[in-house]
Amino acid sequence: MNVPSSAEPSRADAAGQDLRSIPAVVPNQIGNQDAGASDGRTFSKTDPATGLAVCEVARSTASDVSRAVERAKQAQPAWAAMTPVARGDILRQIALLMREHRAELAELVAKETGKSRKDARGETDAAIEMGFFVAGEGRRFYGQTTTSAVPNKTAMTVRQPLGVAGLIIAANTPIANVAWKAFPALLCGNAAVMKASEDTPLSAWAFGVLAREAGVPDGVYSTLHGFGEEAGAPLVEHPDVAVVSFTGSCQVGRWIAETAGRRLAKTCLELGGKNPLIVCDDADLENAVKWTLGSAFSNAGQRCAAGSRIIVFDKVYDTFTALLLDATRALTIGTSDTDDLGPVINESQMVSMLAAVERAKAAGAAVLAGGHRLSGDGYDGGYFVAPTLVAHVGANDEISQSELFGPITCLYRVQGFDEAIDLANDSPFGLTASIHTRDLNRAHTFVSRIQSGVAVVNGGTYGSEPHLPFGGLRQSGNGWREAGTDALNVYSDVKTVYINHDPTRV
Ligand code: NAD
Repeated sequence: MNVPSSAEPSRADAAGQDLRSIPAVVPNQIGNQDAGASDGRTFSKTDPATGLAVCEVARSTASDVSRAVERAKQAQPAWAAMTPVARGDILRQIALLMREHRAELAELVAKETGKSRKDARGETDAAIEMGFFVAGEGRRFYGQTTTSAVPNKTAMTVRQPLGVAGLIIAANTPIANVAWKAFPALLCGNAAVMKASEDTPLSAWAFGVLAREAGVPDGVYSTLHGFGEEAGAPLVEHPDVAVVSFTGSCQVGRWIAETAGRRLAKTCLELGGKNPLIVCDDADLENAVKWTLGSAFSNAGQRCAAGSRIIVFDKVYDTFTALLLDATRALTIGTSDTDDLGPVINESQMVSMLAAVERAKAAGAAVLAGGHRLSGDGYDGGYFVAPTLVAHVGANDEISQSELFGPITCLYRVQGFDEAIDLANDSPFGLTASIHTRDLNRAHTFVSRIQSGVAVVNGGTYGSEPHLPFGGLRQSGNGWREAGTDALNVYSDVKTVYINHDPTRV
C-alpha cells in the first residue's frame, strides 16, 4: 500500500525498507527481525481524517512482549559496555537519518494522525532535535566529583544503566513521543522495548527502521504494536523490565504505578493536564488571543499542555471574549497546510469529548462556539470537532476538572490576580500554566505561586524545548522530568564511588 507522497524520492534503507511505502501489515520489530504477532492477529488502523483503513498492524500479546524483552536482556550488557560517546554516535546517526528522511517521516505522521504536513514536519523536526541533543550528552554524561572528609579518598558519582526499559506512548505527537523516550533510554545504556500507540503505529515503525540502519545492535531496540491491555500491560508486568516510562492518561498511569510498584520497578509517568492561561487586565489582548488559540486548538487540542482553562480578569473579559470568539470562528479545520487544526485521533475520543460538552450544557454551561462534530464536504467520515469555547462553568464542574484532550476550552471570569491564581491552582493537575501581563510584579509573583511543572509569561501553555525538563505536579506525573538532562535521571541510576590511595607508596 503506497502513501500518496510529495516527498522527494529517496533510497531504500539498508534493510531494503522504503519509508514511502506503508507496509500492508505493520510488523513488530524485535531487534533486527520484523515479525507478525505470535498468534498472527492484526488490527486495522484508520485515517482520522477519513475514517478509512490505512493498514493492518500486528496485534501483539504477552508472548511477543516476552520475546522482545528476552532479546533486550541478552543484548543490553554489550550495549552498556560501550562508552556513552560511542552510544551517542549511533544515536546521532539515527538523528541524521531522520533528517535525511524528514519528508517521509512527516508524511507518515500526517497520514496516521490527520494533522497537516506542516505540523507533522514541525513535530518531526522537534524529534530530530531531541536526537541531536541527547547524542551530545554522550560526551558529557556528567556525574559529580566532590570532596571527602577522609584524606586521600576520592569521592564521585557516575551513572549506570537500569537494564531493560519498557516505553509506552500516546498518539498525539507520535514521532516526538518516540524520540523523547527512545533517545535518552538508549544513551544511558539500556536496551528498550517501545510499545507504540495503537493509533499511531507508522512513525514508531519508521523510527525502528532508521534505528536499525543507524547501527543500533540487534536486540537493543524493539518496537511492538497492539492495544494497551494486550501489549502494554504485559510489558509493565514483565519481571525483567527495570523501568517503565509511560506517557498517557492518569487512569492508566495509576495502574502502571501500582503494578510496577509491587515489584519496586521504577516508573516515569507523564500524564494529563488541565492547564490554565491567565489574561490580566493589562495584557496585550491580541497576543493573548493568539496564544489562547494556539494553546487550546493547535494539534486539535490533543496536548497534555493544552490551554483548557482560560482565566480572564473581569475588566477585559467581554473584550477578550469577543476577540477570541471572532478568532475562533475564523479558524479553518482540515488537513492542509493552510488549516489551523485537523481531526482528533479516533472516534471514541471524539464521542467522549462531545458527550462531556453535552453534560456541561445540561448543567448550565454556555457553548459560545463549536461543541459539535463537523460534517459535509471534506469532513464526512473524519473525526473533526469544531473548535469549542465554553463559558459559565464552575471551577468544580466536571468540565473544569477533567481533561478532554480535544479542541475544547473553558472561559472563567475573575475579579483580580489572587482569584486568578487560586483558580489556576484549583485542579487535580499541575502540568503547565501561562499568564499574560505587562506587569513585572505580576509575572514574577505568578511564577512563584503557580503550582505547575512549566510556567510561561506572555506565551502559550505549550511549546517546551528539548534541552529543558518537562513534567508536572500532582496527577500530571510522578515527579520525574522528561527532556533535558533530567531525562537521563529517569533511565540511569547513580553509583557513588570512593577510591582510597596512599601517597606514601608511590
Ligand atoms: P492512554 O493512557 O489511553 O494510552 C496511552 C498508551 O498507553 C497507549 O500506547 C496505550 O495502548 C497504552 N495503554 C493503555 N492501557 C494500558 C495498560 N493497561 N497497560 C499498559 N499500557 C496501556 O492515553 P491516550 O488517550 O492515548 O493519550 C492521551 C493522554 O496522554 C492524555 O491524558 C494526555 O494528557 C497524555 N499525555 C501526556 C503527555 C505528558 O508528557 N505529560 C504527553 C502527551 C500525552
